[in-house]
Amino acid sequence: MLPFIRSDLDLVRAYKPHPTSNTNQSVEATSDRLDTNESPYNLPSELKQKLAWTYQEVIESNRYPDAGHEELKAKIAEYVNESANTAITGANISVGNGSDEIIRSILIATCVGNEGSILVANPTFGVYAIFAQTLGIPVVSIERSPINFEMDLAAAQRAISQTQNPPIRVVFVVHPNSPTGNALTANELVWLQSLPEHILVVVDEAYFEFSQNTVVSQLAQRSNWLVLRTFSKAFRLAAHRVGYAIGHPEIIAALEKIRLPYNLPTFSIAAALIALQQRQLLLNVIPQLLVERDKLLVNLSQHPALQVWDSAANFIYLRLKTDFPQPEELLNLINEQLKTSGTIVRHISGGLRITVGSSDENQRTLDRIQATLSSLLPAFTEKKV
Ligand SMILES: *Cc1c(COP(=O)(O)O)cnc(C)c1O
Repeated sequence: MLPFIRSDLDLVRAYKPHPTSNTNQSVEATSDRLDTNESPYNLPSELKQKLAWTYQEVIESNRYPDAGHEELKAKIAEYVNESANTAITGANISVGNGSDEIIRSILIATCVGNEGSILVANPTFGVYAIFAQTLGIPVVSIERSPINFEMDLAAAQRAISQTQNPPIRVVFVVHPNSPTGNALTANELVWLQSLPEHILVVVDEAYFEFSQNTVVSQLAQRSNWLVLRTFSKAFRLAAHRVGYAIGHPEIIAALEKIRLPYNLPTFSIAAALIALQQRQLLLNVIPQLLVERDKLLVNLSQHPALQVWDSAANFIYLRLKTDFPQPEELLNLINEQLKTSGTIVRHISGGLRITVGSSDENQRTLDRIQATLSSLLPAFTEKKV
């Protein structure tokens, strides 16, 4: 390690959201990429044409982007108010280069300088802990039930009472959780509501458009809650990197101080505005994706070797039933064989997370899982997926 690099970075591993990005590009291009929960659908070409026209005729490439995001924030507020009976305005919104940037801004605004630790319930989105480590912020983890992935609230409460120097300043939850697909339960919500005002509760609603579960209507009463959303999933703009936070104007003001001045490229702002304007067109494929998700769930649940959980999102999570001696090695083999056969999924937290793709992709997913399990677990071949 170079002597001027912070010594604690030695322990941090770079985030690899897309393990496949290291592999042969041409293999990847012909594979079903079901490992990052993107929409299977590109932007419709009429929207791309509109965007191309905007680039050609409106955008001045020599000028810095709009640093204030006022128009985009106002349009986002309008969209958020549609989803809940709220009176959110641009003053309640901060926009980031993906919600990833906002997660980092939250950590800088709350915990840096030994002021706070964060609490996460594993398995969950790995970015919170990784970004915290890169900033020297301690991460306290509690477990979820292996049966239904509910948080161990007694352990969470203990962690909050016992963590000192620095105390827990932020609790991160995903609603519905990734990789496990479960929405927050009534009990979990009551516990989050019970947290004192000096603890920030971040509810990451990256999959809101699929789940229709949101806590946005509670923000008016809770100055210590912040909701995160993104254009990377249902809105089909992962390539453009746009996410946003919704919350009390004072939290928003702190995030605005910390973000980079020109964090969103002009082209990304234009893409988000067009996506919002055309949201009905973009979001009307969701009911069909949910039908596809449930078909995957029903089919995979019938396999005697698999345990599959319900999902409120656009992915499903499964594990091998407990009676395998070396489940991790077996999962690795399954994952590799699926990849070889052309379906890329995410091996994570002792299970596989599989994005719901197009109808054709999902049929291939079912066929390839069946074939893989038949070859690796011949004892299970008589049952069909
Ligand atoms: C995909 C995802 C995001 C989105 O991140 P972006 O930086 O906006 O692309 C955020 N949180 C969770 C839990 C996710 O799964």
